[in-house]
Amino acid sequence: MLNRLLIRGGTVLSIDPAIGELEQGDVLIEDGRIVAVAPSIEAEDCEVIDATDRIVMPGFVDTHRHTWQAPWRNIASDWSLFHYLWGMHTGLSKYYRPQDTYNGNLLGTVEALDSGITTLLDWSHNLATPDHADGAVAGLRDSGSRAVFAHGSGNQQWGSVPGNTVNHSDDARRVRDQYFSSQDGLVTMALAIRGPQFTTEDVARHDWALARDLDLRVTVHVGDGELGKTRPIEWMQREGLLDDRTTYVHCCTLADDELQMIADTGGTASVAADVELQMGHGWPATGRLLQVGIRPSLSIDVCTSTGGHMFGLMRTALGTQRGLDNAALSAAGGSLAGGEPIPLTCRDIIEFATIEGARACGLDREVGSLTPGKQADIILVRTDTLGMSPLNNATGAIVYNAHPGLVETVLVAGRVVKRDGVLVDHDPKKIIALAEETRDHVLVSAADDPLIDDVVLHGTWTPRTPPAAVSA
Ligand SMILES: [Zn+2]
Repeated sequence: MLNRLLIRGGTVLSIDPAIGELEQGDVLIEDGRIVAVAPSIEAEDCEVIDATDRIVMPGFVDTHRHTWQAPWRNIASDWSLFHYLWGMHTGLSKYYRPQDTYNGNLLGTVEALDSGITTLLDWSHNLATPDHADGAVAGLRDSGSRAVFAHGSGNQQWGSVPGNTVNHSDDARRVRDQYFSSQDGLVTMALAIRGPQFTTEDVARHDWALARDLDLRVTVHVGDGELGKTRPIEWMQREGLLDDRTTYVHCCTLADDELQMIADTGGTASVAADVELQMGHGWPATGRLLQVGIRPSLSIDVCTSTGGHMFGLMRTALGTQRGLDNAALSAAGGSLAGGEPIPLTCRDIIEFATIEGARACGLDREVGSLTPGKQADIILVRTDTLGMSPLNNATGAIVYNAHPGLVETVLVAGRVVKRDGVLVDHDPKKIIALAEETRDHVLVSAADDPLIDDVVLHGTWTPRTPPAAVSA
């Protein structure tokens, strides 16, 4: 017998252009897949979820998060990129045990799930040993979320940049064989590669050859601050490395012709607006990407700085681009006084956070919209609160008003993982206790590290003394 579930009577933001937005609609799910989305569906023998005064929409997709850092929430909220590189990235990271990678990934992914992110790309770049990679994969799998494990090597590969001479870890081959011989599960694999601006040319060539050899999608940081101005995309084009299986993260300081090269080869992009603005990567590239025909996805990046949910990120991404657009218009002596529409809308931003995210993960045939045939990754957002009522504009409410506390129900592949505001599979207290254990272990084992002296003893949480090994 089919396992059927009917979500009834919600405001449906399908993100499927053929279905559109239903002021009141139903979604029918059978065996984990969406089979119908319509104003009214008659169905028998099924569980019913009442969606009255709820917005029903696809789960969000976060296309780039260094999930292992979740236990260090907000310590870097006042840090620059350089503080982060020596304080967190190659600093506190080196005291991680495999179970700390597990604890970070479990907290980060369940936190995301709780807030309505049903697919997360884990940009995992603190894999000191094979055991750390095992811990990272286990954390993702135990979360119950859909996820992409993007293997990103560890400190050997990320210290001493630019010009790093250490190839991407060959352990990626073992991980591929051991866990991802089939790419059909909830957790799949990609390769998280350093952009050529971080390594020697030979190392960059090696890393891309590894991705091709393992038949994996690639996610790569490019256009991040000053290093991004070294024309990494032009180099990749010369080497024949640009393709439609690559997601380019940040893109802030790439030149316009480089963005065009990405568009011409079918690449996808990931905008991490909060972190880009804070850490000085440059202006989020949303508008410049749109100009060359790339609709970007969105990403949280580091929870050491920013919140882990999509609502805040959508507001930052939209507000930033609207500010840039208005400033450009004003500088040109114009205004929107003539009644022309605002170029970038709340609907656009929600598409970036859902279907474009799915595309950047290579999963757009499976998730990212409420389309019959796709996996039922769905969230219900309450609108019966003082802050959300009366509901006049569902897309505006999601982008400018909603927050994780309103995410009442979450489904992954048709399975309810959050019901009535409560996670089904997890006790948050236990996950938090694991994360605190990781934080305390790192602080104790790093007690003699001058970094910790700066970070903790002075009470500023700001590292002041870069170690000699870090030159970027
Ligand atoms: Zn990143």
